[in-house]
Amino acid sequence: MSNDAVELSDEDFLVEDYESEEEGNLGGGKSKRKVAGVSLSSSSEEDEEDGSGDDEYEEDKKLQVYFCSRTHSQLSQFIKELKKTVFANEMKVVCLGSRRNFCINEDVLKLGNSTRINERCLELQRNKNKEVSKIKNVGAGGRIRRNKASCGCPMLRKHKLQKEFRSMMSQQGALDIEDLVHLGKSMRTCPYYGSRSMVPVADLVVLPYQSLLSKASRESLGLNLKNNIVIIDEAHNLADSLISMYDSRITLSQLEDVHSHIEKYFERFCNVLGPGNRRYIQTLMVLTRAFRQVFLKDDRSYGDSCRDTEKASGASGTSTSSMAINDFLFSLNVDNINLVKLLQYIKESNIMHKVSGYGDKVASFQKNWHLMAVKTEALCPVSKH
Ligand code: SF4
Repeated sequence: MSNDAVELSDEDFLVEDYESEEEGNLGGGKSKRKVAGVSLSSSSEEDEEDGSGDDEYEEDKKLQVYFCSRTHSQLSQFIKELKKTVFANEMKVVCLGSRRNFCINEDVLKLGNSTRINERCLELQRNKNKEVSKIKNVGAGGRIRRNKASCGCPMLRKHKLQKEFRSMMSQQGALDIEDLVHLGKSMRTCPYYGSRSMVPVADLVVLPYQSLLSKASRESLGLNLKNNIVIIDEAHNLADSLISMYDSRITLSQLEDVHSHIEKYFERFCNVLGPGNRRYIQTLMVLTRAFRQVFLKDDRSYGDSCRDTEKASGASGTSTSSMAINDFLFSLNVDNINLVKLLQYIKESNIMHKVSGYGDKVASFQKNWHLMAVKTEALCPVSKH
């Protein structure tokens, strides 16, 4: 591709072949080729991708204390207090947080919101691993054009620096998020992955609620609740945190965007997709179309049944209702879709990242094309006689 060095080609958005396994086996399908060892867990913020979890810390399992609190500032406060005690230097302490708090890659950080930061970081790790396998395939004497977008995060390129980061952490005692970010910046290595790789040897792990409450996060961090001690700070916040972890909201316009992105993706790639991918992507379209009906139907029934009540009560704008999951699926005629398998496909195939990446590319192409058209018109106005 002629423009390979500056931007991703359409093929970079092509999802890998997906094989579906037997019905009833909730192990479900799997990608033929694992995406570079990267696991996109449901909490895609937690993963174990860069291989920096070395064997060097393979020690006998020891008693660990997990201290968790709701916010990062509360965790930092706890570390500050801990530093005033003798324990700060006697115990190995590690403080965990989100990429948003830890990331030191300015290009990634300026994306602003946590989801985009997580996704970009994971994308960089995947691209790095793809690049490594490309180089291996070409062989020692071969030449390859390095794709600018495929270089991985510069803060993770030197494995040696991650090792040094861990040794500095051990020497400096209890460090809070700010300290770790400062250390990462001064060493030019990622504090997010640096701190996570310290978990196996830590006596005390200080972490946000979500990292402890989500099974996927616990597994990726190697946290084992059995025979260890868990301290929950301000436990009255626990119920709200659990609700917010498993609560999802979507608006009609978001749903329409998702549906149109999937449709465009399918139009572009349907001829090259394998049967497994084709079937699941079509199922996704059926589902998003059905979910849209909820809003549209809701709007109509809202008009019929709620307007009078609303007028009477003075409320405006929203109608609410709740349904059991099975009733909901039956009402939309999608009760025949195996949601467990579909979810598994979404996680394993990485389809949503491909779809949204391709959607962004199309949108940016359309925007540039529009700007160019406006400029051309300004430079060469068409005379109307
Ligand atoms: S590897 Fe670290 S510094 Fe790089 S993007 Fe991810 S979180 Fe940010």
